[in-house]
Amino acid sequence: MKDLQKELDERKAQHLYRRRRISESAQQPEMVIDGRAVINFCSNDYLGLANHVEVKNAFIEGVKKYGAGSGAAHLVNGHSKAHHELEEELAEFTGYPRTLLFSTGYMANLGLAQALVGKGDTVLEDRLNHASLIDGGLLSGARFQRYAHNDVEQLGEKLKTAKGETLVLTDGVFSMDGDIANIPVLADSCKQHDVWLMVDDAHGFGVLGNNGRGSLEHFNVPQNDVPIYMATLGKALGTSGAFIAGSEALIETLIQKARPYIYTTATPPAVAEATRASLQLIKTKPELREQLNSNIQYFSQCATQTGIELTDSQTAIQPIILGDEARAVAASEQLLEQGLLVTAIRPPTVPKGTARLRITLSASHTKVQIDQLIDALTKQQ
Ligand SMILES: *Cc1c(COP(=O)(O)O)cnc(C)c1O
Repeated sequence: MKDLQKELDERKAQHLYRRRRISESAQQPEMVIDGRAVINFCSNDYLGLANHVEVKNAFIEGVKKYGAGSGAAHLVNGHSKAHHELEEELAEFTGYPRTLLFSTGYMANLGLAQALVGKGDTVLEDRLNHASLIDGGLLSGARFQRYAHNDVEQLGEKLKTAKGETLVLTDGVFSMDGDIANIPVLADSCKQHDVWLMVDDAHGFGVLGNNGRGSLEHFNVPQNDVPIYMATLGKALGTSGAFIAGSEALIETLIQKARPYIYTTATPPAVAEATRASLQLIKTKPELREQLNSNIQYFSQCATQTGIELTDSQTAIQPIILGDEARAVAASEQLLEQGLLVTAIRPPTVPKGTARLRITLSASHTKVQIDQLIDALTKQQ
């Protein structure tokens, strides 16, 4: 048996050790974490729906009707009317014929790749894709290759020699960088080669596009050009879970073959009821997206004025690349001392040499809170 403690100690010495912080409050800008009051700039709750009164009430009503747990997998008797209605509403909202709920985004990505490709097939992925897409591709058993970030030309070269059924996977909004995949060009290239394209829109769904329909709406790309669309419900929608949208035949294939769909307990129906309330808010309250966009603009204007170096991200994810792990950890700790919670992101979550502070903005931040963050970042320069 190997010496686990020694490995852990090495991790610590390399500033790569990860630890959890304990939150004692709801997910919102003002939180109590590890016993101290902080302003949170690292949540994916971009629209402030995780603690929204209508979403919470829908959850409570869902528990009263359906109880706490679903009791079984979807294919046994855990598939409730709440789940089913949410799937239909998501299909209507995204413009795809059908959708399928998964318990988490990670499982959706594993299930999709495993259901569509295997030995003798090919998976091609953007180098900066989320770990769940990478794992999905690797575990599928297909030949696995990455292309340089957003480099559609290089993808085109790889497509020329791709064997078997071929699946191209990309983040819609890159989770650690905040930039948006070049979906129109990716879609063209995949169509030309007659291969599957899946966009994982975990950070675009609910926030991008005039109606919050995500990165396809942002680019005005028709659903037909992206045969597989996936998004998570634990980010802008503020609840939990994920869905895949696509054709009738794709969804039926996933129901038959995606093991992370088949062999797991359905999420509590109350979560689906809460998510339906979130979706309703996304449809009826464009002011939430307007507030988020106004905060993103305010933050990047203030940062530029004070000489803080940002990337060209236009989304709620605003990284400050520091390079060195130790530097990123120290910067995050310094901010925490001033009551600002911003996580340091290190390898292997991001490539070596690109450790960073990952700042995320929410519609519920106030300008005063953003000013405080800018002041603290300016002092670090
Ligand atoms: C968060 C995330 C996932 C995983 O979703 P969970 O529901 O948290 O498991 C998948 N893809 C991307 C791009 C993500 O950011």
